[in-house]
Amino acid sequence: MRFNTALLHRNNRADGATGATQTPIYQSGAFAHETAEELEEIFGNHRPGFSYTRINNPTVEAFERRVAALEGGIGAVACASGMAAVSLAALNILKEGDEILSASGIFGGTIGLFHDLRDYGIRTRYVSDGRPESFENQITGRTRLIFIETIGNPKLDVIDIRALCEAAHRHGVPVIVDNTAATPFLVRPIELGADVVVHSVSKYINGSGNSIGGILVDSGNFAWEEERYPSLSQFLKFGKFAYLAKLRNGLFRNIGSCFSPFNAFLCSLGLETLGIRMERLCGNAQKLARQLSENPKLACVNYPGLESSPWHRTAQKQFSGGYGAILTLRTGSKENAFFVIDHLKYACNIANIGDLRTLVIHPASTIYANSSPAEKEDAGVYEDLIRVSVGLEDIEDLMEDFESAVGGL
Ligand SMILES: *Cc1c(COP(=O)(O)O)cnc(C)c1O
Repeated sequence: MRFNTALLHRNNRADGATGATQTPIYQSGAFAHETAEELEEIFGNHRPGFSYTRINNPTVEAFERRVAALEGGIGAVACASGMAAVSLAALNILKEGDEILSASGIFGGTIGLFHDLRDYGIRTRYVSDGRPESFENQITGRTRLIFIETIGNPKLDVIDIRALCEAAHRHGVPVIVDNTAATPFLVRPIELGADVVVHSVSKYINGSGNSIGGILVDSGNFAWEEERYPSLSQFLKFGKFAYLAKLRNGLFRNIGSCFSPFNAFLCSLGLETLGIRMERLCGNAQKLARQLSENPKLACVNYPGLESSPWHRTAQKQFSGGYGAILTLRTGSKENAFFVIDHLKYACNIANIGDLRTLVIHPASTIYANSSPAEKEDAGVYEDLIRVSVGLEDIEDLMEDFESAVGGL
């Protein structure tokens, strides 16, 4: 099955009860069972079934199965937001004294989370040059996970996932990859060796910006050593499902960041058109980036699809079908950045990516407002930088709009 066919047909059966082509919205808090024995078996994981929507739900499960299959994982856990997915993916294996090794050019919320984890005795080191060798050199006896994004948002760096995973696995460390910006349309990190993939499905998977959600997908491939991951020891009897079994029976249900069935339904609908949307979005981004890179009023246009990007060659090797739909522009000053944002006709000034419409934001004064100057620099956030999440508008309209706004500088 090729990608667009898989979006519609892989792990997607008509609803058993009615034949409905979409799994209906099972908008119920809990699920009744005939006998006490039956519910006991469900709670004991001895029989499949549903008990309470904080734990699982048929609409949410249908969405999980589809995304797990697309990413090539053995299972998935959908949750309330992308940040819930990132938090759970990491906390499921960490304890006091452990260290995270992370790429530096990542989503501001994730940097914020890693900062918060210091209060729980979990420290994060950052690698700023994106080279697999640099990650390997910074692994210590306490490193328990490596975290990267497939396209750093907003740095737009692209790390060689295969080389990084080989290096990490030599040291017994798993790699968690946030695939929000590239989506499985461009790359499936598990095929390249990643152990766990996370998404903010609020972005390209949902596609229309109509809900917040997250998902994590486990490859089932990582060999969890009892000594280094003691909290997993009682779940090792589940074999390759150890990580998911621990999460489902522990943090996921106990933290309570479950996905709403309604949002799972909307994200399932969005998922079906991911392929055609990404194709057009990446095409628009490539054309807009090329055109703006020739505009003498812009100091720099950063896009992995441009040969001028230091990450172009890795992206070319690693992605198929495009280079994503986010680009950044350096305008020379904060005033210039604000001027361009305020003079765009079509682009919404908004804290999001992956909508159908073009979105822009000035990250330094918004998403990164609470980051230190050093953190901003490491994340590729400058005072004069605008992030553009390219949408589905006709490319001629987008080009005219940006040319006219930039032309006023
Ligand atoms: C938006 C985003 C997140 C957080 O997702 P939410 O759904 O907003 O919680 C995490 N990672 C990346 C790369 C994102 O763009």
